[in-house]
Amino acid sequence: MDDLNVKGRIFDIQRYSIHDGNGIRTIVFLKGCAFRCRWCCNPESQEYEIQKMKVQGKDKTIGKDVTVSEVLQEVLKDRNYYLRSGGGVTLSGGEALCQPDFTYHLLHACKEEGLHTAMESTAFAKFTVIDRILPVLDQYLMDIKHMNSEKHQLFTGQSNELVLENAEKIAASGKTELIIRVPVIPTFNHTDAEIAAIAEFAGSLPGVKEMNLLPYHRLGSDKYDGLNREYLLKGIMPPMIEEMERLKKVAERHSGLIVKIGG
Ligand code: SF4
Repeated sequence: MDDLNVKGRIFDIQRYSIHDGNGIRTIVFLKGCAFRCRWCCNPESQEYEIQKMKVQGKDKTIGKDVTVSEVLQEVLKDRNYYLRSGGGVTLSGGEALCQPDFTYHLLHACKEEGLHTAMESTAFAKFTVIDRILPVLDQYLMDIKHMNSEKHQLFTGQSNELVLENAEKIAASGKTELIIRVPVIPTFNHTDAEIAAIAEFAGSLPGVKEMNLLPYHRLGSDKYDGLNREYLLKGIMPPMIEEMERLKKVAERHSGLIVKIGG
């Protein structure tokens, strides 16, 4: 099938990002996610449906249907930056695996153009869906949020078994560079024991060399008002730098991996 005519639904494209994979990157944000993380800074990504969000008092339409060709044209504008910085394209969301066909063809088209490809994802999908994508994905930035399934369910709306099982399968495949990312969320997973448990798991995955701790922030909390939704983490403060440094040491000790704060 021709990649270029395949359609998908996105809600944003951001150029010149330096936080979501190697080098300077263009981030393509896809609509739809099976999770409902309480800290989500892109709540407008969660519903697959095109929707309205109030932004500075005005209705803004969130989501549009595009072809791979249209996205690729935008992505290729910065080819020179990618070449100079070792960057490329990153799919984010939402969860790109909710649109597996579009994701596969977009990544395939990017690889045909010689671009480096990355994806931020929870790996919450059948492994056959993920396995199809791996050959066209250079770097998998995979979230592991908590090792306790009940707590995972309470704060994200989904249990963690499928995520952990897929992390093991992706690592064992050896087909992509797997980096484990942990959003550090006070009241959810910010204790030494919780980070140590995730670090031990990350360290046990074959081929994984790096783990990132992403401190909670409140950017995006205003969007909940715009969507007429309640922001459930009101009153939670972002972790202090000293706390992040301490958790980094815990993660290093328990994983044996390179641990970075941020992406
Ligand atoms: S997985 Fe990501 S996009 Fe989906 S709800 Fe959680 S933070 Fe938001």
